[in-house]
Order: sequence, then C-alpha cells, then structure tokens
Amino acid sequence: MLFDAHTHIQFPIYDSTRKDVLRRASDAHVKMLAVGTQYSTSKAAIELSLEYPHDVWASLGFHPSHLDKEWHHDRNEQKENEKELFDARAFSALASHKRVIAIGECGLDYFRIKNNEARSKTKDRQGEVFLAQACIAEITKKALMIHCRPSKGSDDAYEDLLSLLDSRVQNVPRILHFYVGSLAITKKLIEAGFYFTCGGVITFSHDYDEIFKYIPLDRILFETDAPYVAPEPYRGKQNEPAYIRYTVEALCCIRQEPVNKIQDTTYANSLRVFNISL
Ligand SMILES: [Zn+2]
Repeated sequence: MLFDAHTHIQFPIYDSTRKDVLRRASDAHVKMLAVGTQYSTSKAAIELSLEYPHDVWASLGFHPSHLDKEWHHDRNEQKENEKELFDARAFSALASHKRVIAIGECGLDYFRIKNNEARSKTKDRQGEVFLAQACIAEITKKALMIHCRPSKGSDDAYEDLLSLLDSRVQNVPRILHFYVGSLAITKKLIEAGFYFTCGGVITFSHDYDEIFKYIPLDRILFETDAPYVAPEPYRGKQNEPAYIRYTVEALCCIRQEPVNKIQDTTYANSLRVFNISL
C-alpha cells in the first residue's frame, strides 16, 4: 500500500475524470489525503472522503497565496474567481468532522511576494492566518499540513515558521509539504520534530537528493500534489495519485534502499501521523 499525503483530487479540474482517476489509484493501491486550499475546496474534500471512505480522507485549510492582494486564481482549483477572506469560525466548525484528519494546507509563501513595500504586511497577515489554523490543529489534535515556500535562494520562511510555531504547536504532527529547504535548516527542522513530504520533483531534479538522503525515513511521507508537479515520465502533464510510484522508485535510487522498506515505512508513517486506523 501507498499513501499520497497531499493531493487535490477534489479540485474542479477532475470533475469529468475523477471516477477514473480514483479507480486507477485504487488499482495501484494508493490511498490519499485530499487537501483543501480554501473553504470551498476543503468542503469538497470532506464530501469526497465521505463518498470514498476507504481511500480518501480530508484536510481543511486556507492556502497563504489566497491572502495576496492580487487575487489568486488557478483554473485547476476554481471555476470562477471566487474571492474569499479567511473565516476562522467557518473552518473551526468543520474541523471536528470525523473525515478531517489534518488542518492545512496553510503556512507561509514568500516566493510570490512581489514588491518590497507590501512585504512585512503580507508576511504578518500570512503569519496570523497560519497561526489561527495551527491553533485549530492543536485544539482538534489533528496533524498540521504546512505549505512553506521561502524567497529564492533563502530559508527565510522556514526560519519564520520555526519562530512562529515555537512552543505554541508542539502536540500535533507538523508536516512540511513540498519541502525545499537547505541542509542547515533541514537539521533544525528534524530536531524540532517535523515530517517532510517527498514529491515528483525528485524524479526530474537532483537538487533535493542530498536532503532526502539525509532525512530519517521515519519522517518521510510521499505526495503527488496532483494536479501539479507530475513525475517523470509524465512531467508537464496533469498529475494523479496513481503516479506516486514513480516518486517512490526515485527515492529508492537516491537512498539506495529496497522498495519494500521505503513503501512499508512511509505507509506506516502516514497512518501514524494522521491517526488512521484501518
Ligand atoms: Zn498543495
């Protein structure tokens, strides 16, 4: 079995193909966490998890790029350009739902901040909304699914994340999705107890080999981030959970470890982190 710890299979882009995509995932023995990015996509994740109770679970979150002044619109994610302000009450009300096993994706995205003037204000706002979601995770005792993207060539967002969470969120697993930090910050994050997802990027770039060799296997989960970042041989095409096996194979090569060990350990990690009993 494999677990895709971060996918967006509930997004409208899959509306006409979702049944087939989920069947291919099931044939490939892949279970998954459908991750919300706004209220609508979080609700859709819950609905899908109710429809596929053995294969799909839900994560509830508000992505930092939706806080940007220039409204973020992605055709995969939204049919219309739906403006939304973060509503902590609405999210809290859904968080205790039995199909919700994580809170996020939420976090800090410094990569997309364009002008310097807006920087600190945008960062502060991102920090606020992230902490509000981190609190929901603590209260509901669910894992925190973090999107953390530093500005180019820097670890700035990871440093801020560490100081923001500090002693405030200690009691739930914290997972860094699409991890791209340096070796120095990786050491700090491992020490602080974080988990890391490994995605399709390792199938076409060697930039992260050293990092994913270094991280202890019991801290690694796999993700597709579908519909984004499809692995080789599907690079540039629409991604889907069944493709996770290409990323698993790539990690086996990088770590020089047998596929069974990598599959079994990461699958057990996923069940443990998300508190799933099958
Ligand atoms: Zn995502």
